Amino acid sequence: MEGKKTVLIVEDEKSIVDIVRFNLEREGYAVRTAYDGEAGLNAALEGKPDLILLDVMLPKMIGFDVCRILREKGDHVPVIILTAREEEADKVLGLEIGADDYITKPFSMKELMARVKANIRRTSMQQQAAEPAAESAGGGLTINTESYQVSKRGKPVELTQREYELLAFLAASPGKVFSRIDLMEQVWNYEYVGDDVRTVDVTVRRLREKIEDDPANPTFILTRRGVGYYFAGE
Ligand code: CA
Repeated sequence: MEGKKTVLIVEDEKSIVDIVRFNLEREGYAVRTAYDGEAGLNAALEGKPDLILLDVMLPKMIGFDVCRILREKGDHVPVIILTAREEEADKVLGLEIGADDYITKPFSMKELMARVKANIRRTSMQQQAAEPAAESAGGGLTINTESYQVSKRGKPVELTQREYELLAFLAASPGKVFSRIDLMEQVWNYEYVGDDVRTVDVTVRRLREKIEDDPANPTFILTRRGVGYYFAGE
């Protein structure tokens, strides 16, 4: 067995840090904390946590910049953005800059723990996965399920972890249509799906921008109106 998983909390409200830390430690996680964006970025780069809970409004550097810089440095640690309820735009922006998930404040500890667990489990499964080799998806797109790399006409495509997982999941069953709820459950590992299905749409859009020649007229990830998404058949 591996040692404890480490969660880094980057949040300037001490009362939130304290209660989240208490709950995480009770669940068996090791916890690191940072109270501003710069300290959070340094802690993320040096401490190599297994997951980051990242507030948006932080002193010195906002959460989005912390996440963006991590991704620019090629760090794929799962990031869950903590955002205030009314800031709908934040959710979308967070996903666009490479966060894996978001949770709105005020959140229930039960929901937060479920998200943390789901995101860490996903990463561990991916690291341990022993799926067979590279899969050519046709159209010049290659998905290597051993190295988790995607290339298009031989050129590497930089995907976030979630974008990769969504692509690999859909490509494993060409022609099969999955609803947003199916995808939330199977790719995002959520047992309960509320109104977060929009996350799927945002991730599909990001993915199309990266792998399609013309994202407005996709040839890989297609929409079945009123039903969901599917990977183009052979
Ligand atoms: Ca804050």
